[in-house]
Amino acid sequence: MSNERIEILRMEGVGRTYGGASEAPALSEVSLSILQGEFVAVIGASGAGKSTLLNLFGLLDTASTGKYLVAGHDIAELSDRERDRLRASTFGFVFQESHMLLKETAGGNAALGLSINEVDPELRPPIVSEALETVHLLEKAGDLAGNLSGGERQRVAIARAIATSPRILLADEPTGALDTVNSKRVVRTLRQLNDEGVTVIMITHDPVVAQAADRIIEISDGKIMSDSSEPTVHRSAEGLHREPAALPARTQSTWSRVRERIGSAISNHTVHAARAALLLLAFTVGSGGLVTAIGLSQSAAAQVVGRLDSAALDEFLVVPKNAPSAVRSEFALPETASASEVAEVATARVGALDGVRSVGLTAIAEFDEKITLLNPTTVHEQPAVSPDIRVVDSTYLRLQGVRTDREVSVQRLFAADAQIPAVVLGPALAEKLGYDQEVPGAQLWIGSTPAAIVGIIDDLGEEPRLDSALVVNPALAATVSAADPSLIVQTAPGEPARLAESIGIAIAPGDASLFKAETVADLRSLTQGVAGDLVSLINIVSWVLLVLSSLSAATAAYLSVHARAAEIALRRAVGESRRSIWGQFVLEGLIVGLLGGVLGSALGVTMLVLFATMQGWTPTFNLMFLALGVATGAATGLLASLYPAAVAARQDPALAVRGT
Ligand code: ADP
Repeated sequence: MSNERIEILRMEGVGRTYGGASEAPALSEVSLSILQGEFVAVIGASGAGKSTLLNLFGLLDTASTGKYLVAGHDIAELSDRERDRLRASTFGFVFQESHMLLKETAGGNAALGLSINEVDPELRPPIVSEALETVHLLEKAGDLAGNLSGGERQRVAIARAIATSPRILLADEPTGALDTVNSKRVVRTLRQLNDEGVTVIMITHDPVVAQAADRIIEISDGKIMSDSSEPTVHRSAEGLHREPAALPARTQSTWSRVRERIGSAISNHTVHAARAALLLLAFTVGSGGLVTAIGLSQSAAAQVVGRLDSAALDEFLVVPKNAPSAVRSEFALPETASASEVAEVATARVGALDGVRSVGLTAIAEFDEKITLLNPTTVHEQPAVSPDIRVVDSTYLRLQGVRTDREVSVQRLFAADAQIPAVVLGPALAEKLGYDQEVPGAQLWIGSTPAAIVGIIDDLGEEPRLDSALVVNPALAATVSAADPSLIVQTAPGEPARLAESIGIAIAPGDASLFKAETVADLRSLTQGVAGDLVSLINIVSWVLLVLSSLSAATAAYLSVHARAAEIALRRAVGESRRSIWGQFVLEGLIVGLLGGVLGSALGVTMLVLFATMQGWTPTFNLMFLALGVATGAATGLLASLYPAAVAARQDPALAVRGT
């Protein structure tokens, strides 16, 4: 085996300047060469440039000047992507802080690099076990990182770094946060790794720790002051030339990678359950609000269209008020005039009005005797029925969309001035009577009056009540002693409202109250209805917005509690009570809410004036609006801060100090 060692890192006149060129460089004119298998300690005072150097080594930062080669590759010639790959395949990092995911197991933490490098999950356990074995923590693989000591966490961090089989391990003050015992263990682990062939570059303050290295580079003010570049190699030549085992290729399937990503996204949420719940709620309210608003606006639109449609219908009903004798005297008819005679006059008067297209009539008959198919005086054993009896004319049937099986005869026999008694049967009534429609020229008996059966109703149209009714023609109105008829009036489209208003006077000029119009919808209630629909829609949307903004505020406040953990801990440490911390957060919420309320009210009024002016409306508002805006802001600010304040007050000061 050759004793010639591979040069793994090389810097030629490397400098790094932060900020402007006027500033002193953090690193300047650094030229050095690091061979594979070396264990190097970088020492120097704080601010000397050690971290800057380590970041350049690890490709976390780029030099401002000079040339840097990793395993013979000039870094300047690599793309970002290639640099990322080279970093992942060559370097492992250990920092002063272990940066553990505390709610993840030691094994899970050690596997992080494998997951990032898309190693097939099935291949990970043996690699993780080996890495944990190396740092003597295999038995703690299943423990939560949060339950490990600082030293153990740092060793898990080393396991995490070596799991990806780096050729070079970069450690920035790996023992900086540890006591002597743990510090020694970590150094021993690094030594052992170095023996196995890993090149180690370690920054340290501690001269004792530095002594563990083979080579010590001291820097001061960004320059190399001394370099014991003759390594004291105290390990086998074999170890020196050993290449660490290569990381398995990126064999993880896309599907498995996606699943893993989703899994970790979900588990990140479950780790911070309260925060996730707040966020979830905010999104729920947001989407819910959107769906509600769209749904409501569509329903409101449909409602408005519906109202307009029914207002635009071209029909209305004229109903006689219950005063038959007054009607007869008004119409100059004898007291004994029949409903048909009344109908004739009323129909003529309504029909003469401008805009009226046709007039149909209908009346309910009062009748005590039974309906039979055969003559009741000769046949006693037969079905006898007492149905509702409705007097109608053919116009009425047409306007109500009622269809019979013999339309032509019905049109003829049910004319307003019909002379021959004729009936049409509702389908249910026909069945009750046992009427066989195949028999032509049939008749039935209304008490002792015979009437021709013209047909059976096929389609009830808008008159479902005709199903079991006997429908009789105007010629029979007198026989069955019908009440005065109602008139159905068909008008030109859009005319019903206008005509309905004057119909009373038109029919009975002497007493307009004898007949009353019934329209399907009237325009006054229409405008009120539309306004009401809009107001409730806008109200609901506003409330949704308010809830949404409160939730967002609560989430932001909650997150700020975490961001300010150190501050809270400090205040607790110097004697502030939980109560006072709580009060502080609530007060902050109140102040920002109040301020928001004031600004929001001002904005609202400005928008209102602007919008109204653009539309040519008179803006309507009063001081109540302003007060409401300010109060709402203050109240939501207060409410939104309650939960985060409670979380802040519960914060364990010791945990916060440790920065976890
Ligand atoms: P050390 O690790 O030896 O304490 P650093 O490499 O962190 O020293 O810092 C070297 C010099 O560069 C210091 O003066 C420091 O203030 C400065 N420095 C380090 N990082 C930055 C940065 N991101 N921006 C500006 N100046 C920096």
